[in-house]
Amino acid sequence: MATLICFSHLRWDFVFQRPQHLMSLFAQQWPVIFWEEPIGDADEPWLELRDTGEDVTLAIPHLPEGFSQAQRDAALRDLLDKQLAQAPGPLLRWYYTPMMLSFSRHLASSCIIYDCMDELANFRFAPPELKGLEEELLVASDLVFTGGYSLYEAKRERHGNVHPFPSSVDLAHFSQGLNAAKLDPGRPLLGFYGVIDERMDLDLLAAVADARPHWSIVLVGPVVKIDPADLPQRSNITYTGGRMYAELPAIAGAWDVALMPFAIDESTRFISPTKTPEYLAVGLPVVSTPITDVIRQYGDLEGVEIAGTVEEFVAACERALTLAQAPRDAQWRREADAALSGQSWNNVVAEMTELIDEIMAPTMLNAHRPARYDYLIVGAGFAGAVMAERLARDAGARVLVVDRRPHIGGNAYDHYDDAGILVHRYGPHIFHTNSQDIVDYLSSFTAWRPYEHRVLADFDGVQVPIPINRTTLNRLYGLNLTTDDEAAAFLDARAEPVDPIRTSADVVVSKVGRELYELFFRGYTRKQWGLDPSMLDKSVTARVPTRTNIDDRYFTDKFQAMPANGYTAMFEAMLDHPLIDVRLGVDFDDIRALVDYDRLVFTGPIDEYFNHCYGKLPYRSLEFRHKTVDVAQFQPVGVVNYPLEDVRYTRITEYKHLTGQQSDRTSLTYEYPTAVGDPYYPIPKPENEALYKRYQALAAESREVLFVGRLATYRYYNMDQVVGQALATYRKHMAQISGEDGFGQTSIAAE
Ligand code: FAD
Ligand code: UDP
Repeated sequence: MATLICFSHLRWDFVFQRPQHLMSLFAQQWPVIFWEEPIGDADEPWLELRDTGEDVTLAIPHLPEGFSQAQRDAALRDLLDKQLAQAPGPLLRWYYTPMMLSFSRHLASSCIIYDCMDELANFRFAPPELKGLEEELLVASDLVFTGGYSLYEAKRERHGNVHPFPSSVDLAHFSQGLNAAKLDPGRPLLGFYGVIDERMDLDLLAAVADARPHWSIVLVGPVVKIDPADLPQRSNITYTGGRMYAELPAIAGAWDVALMPFAIDESTRFISPTKTPEYLAVGLPVVSTPITDVIRQYGDLEGVEIAGTVEEFVAACERALTLAQAPRDAQWRREADAALSGQSWNNVVAEMTELIDEIMAPTMLNAHRPARYDYLIVGAGFAGAVMAERLARDAGARVLVVDRRPHIGGNAYDHYDDAGILVHRYGPHIFHTNSQDIVDYLSSFTAWRPYEHRVLADFDGVQVPIPINRTTLNRLYGLNLTTDDEAAAFLDARAEPVDPIRTSADVVVSKVGRELYELFFRGYTRKQWGLDPSMLDKSVTARVPTRTNIDDRYFTDKFQAMPANGYTAMFEAMLDHPLIDVRLGVDFDDIRALVDYDRLVFTGPIDEYFNHCYGKLPYRSLEFRHKTVDVAQFQPVGVVNYPLEDVRYTRITEYKHLTGQQSDRTSLTYEYPTAVGDPYYPIPKPENEALYKRYQALAAESREVLFVGRLATYRYYNMDQVVGQALATYRKHMAQISGEDGFGQTSIAAE
């Protein structure tokens, strides 16, 4: 049991929004205290505690008026400490405003979360110290959530664990408004609900009302920070004041069109209005000014109009009024329903909980101190699992495997998503190898499903095979090359000799010439690596061959297959041994002092192990956006690459092709390369290799530690290569220590 305390500048009873949705749901698993701004109305400081009716305890401090900032902070700190003295379990601190750090920064807690809903510093009356306190909060936080994608982009460079969680929608609640009666068919009603403050474009509102006197415009919500006298007064504009969340579906259901007339300025640059999906769920077409996150998430929908000027806004409202007449099963409504499907605050809370559990887990481990181990293995990916399996099963050693993630399998981890489809959390993993030894070894833990991977490259909808082959050339150039020789001659005529071949640009240009290089490789590589191919070692693009035949398989290895029941099931079988303990959600740093062990196998980043003493080794990261769509098949092959630079993702994977699973729905992953985030790819270039060599020299001196795997040996290795490396490391290690003591019951059997 833990306690969650949420520090919020928005009052619980203000409008029922993101904090209220999230906290009500978190309250189902932990006691939740919602800490509000103080009220200056008391003789002595005291804390009012109220039950919200949603299992959340509301804590409202009351202070004497006229306290200085220091007196205020001291009094609040005191009230807070007294209140938390009775709170059960470890503490989670959750912040909506960095301002409340001033009296809460001293609290010992297992997890600090900054749920950033807006760029508060851009708001009217923002206090000057807000920016500095936000910096402090970013440093202190274990996790940062953002209320939209623009905010995510603004924050992700500033913290290593940032996750976008755009606002969701309670579909069951809002769909109650679907059948509400429209008031007067001859007098269209256009409405807005929400906070009415400086973010509203009041001039636009007035101009729309003037342009169409027979439209009625209604604004529902509290007026704050602006003078109510500044609100445009027109006979066809009504202000109702705030209404309860429970009433909103019926209120909005009576409208014809929903409006989002936000001013376009600094205060709205990062907003991601919760009302967009809510309006759509009530069945309303929406007209919005060009808010970036609205355009991004909903701008492609026919039911969402984006309009910048008064004329455009009026015209957009007219189109929306026409859409509003359409029957319930009209195309625009079905499209809007599809965009909302699967959205729920429950899902948001489930995903957030998983991330929080990862952070909280070390606290849990302290509760049951493990026994002594022969080996501590850091990382439960291929490298760690193979080492654990061999050391336990073959050598009889007692092994503890830890991983900071909440699952085994490392980057190859797969799981069934909400739609029941087996997906890979960290992008598509296709097993291929030419080594029979490696196949034989893994076959002890899994059966296989034959699968040959095929990839298409998409150029604005034109899709051709990659690796480049004869079909690619014929389709792109409208040719009819029928033999390998003809295709080879065609490529030879374009190829530009480069000597020596050093970079990833050289490899391709020397084979296919500049045009095909630019089309297929330059943009993709710049996106994927954040570097021009001329800056990367030749080994990177050399992974993708060029062919003159019509073989359209991505790989030509002798063995190509997927584990029949998925990778995670295979890892479970590998680690299922009485001498192997596995602890997940545990960072090496958090347990190294708690566990008694003789030797260490480290499969994390080698520079991290040595505290970055020579500086950080660069890694490239990815952001994976997973989604499920309501079609049986989304694309013709498992992976479609998007080499054009104006498409921000590099590829889309559709897992059903890889697994052969049947379903009416299909799950996809979009990959967005990033500079920050989990380290996925070592970046092969000479200066990085030189830096790695320095760490490798340190590793060679650390004889009690074995460094294995993609991150620990800074190698752009495929899964089979990591398995091969781990098996070889194990054999070498056994040969080295044979003659030393065995491990408990079994004698060491070096292979
Ligand atoms: P990882 O799988 O990264 O495992 C290391 C583990 O160590 C991680 O789980 C990490 O959480 C943990 N860890 C690190 N530091 C610590 C610490 N301090 N404390 C606790 N735990 C720690 N290969 C193929 O053969 N075919 C493919 O199709 C393919 N596709 C890929 C697609 C993508 C997007 C990526 C990123 C890789 C792909 N790979 C593919 C490569 C494959 O993922 C790797 O070769 C393999 O997973 C490496 O295994 P590993 O054990 O070395 O590292
Ligand atoms: N590449 C490219 N265009 C493509 C496919 C690959 O430019 O359509 C380049 C890119 O630099 C990529 C590298 O070739 O990182 C290796 O591709 P591969 O598919 O082997 O990458 P993986 O995803 O397996 O790491």
